[in-house]
Amino acid sequence: MAYKYKSDEIRKCELCGTEFVPRMHHQKYCCNKCQIKAKTQEEAIKTAQRKSPKNISLGITNQLAKNAGMSYGQYQAMKWMKEREKHDAS
Ligand SMILES: [Zn+2]
Repeated sequence: MAYKYKSDEIRKCELCGTEFVPRMHHQKYCCNKCQIKAKTQEEAIKTAQRKSPKNISLGITNQLAKNAGMSYGQYQAMKWMKEREKHDAS
């Protein structure tokens, strides 16, 4: 083996799936961009969960989320972020 140190650990970015060598032991993402994006998504999920409109059929939304391969929270966050993008654009 050419490596002296065990610093060749490869992790997968939790956001985009890119493989990277972590510089810090708790590093979860391949780059700053992903970390920021993930944090934004996390905030959006929290906001969506807080808003959690009870009048919307949970079952339907859940099904849509499943179809999209996302959790309910992720799906709500995506919807919320899309709405916000629309507002920003106009
Ligand atoms: Zn990444």
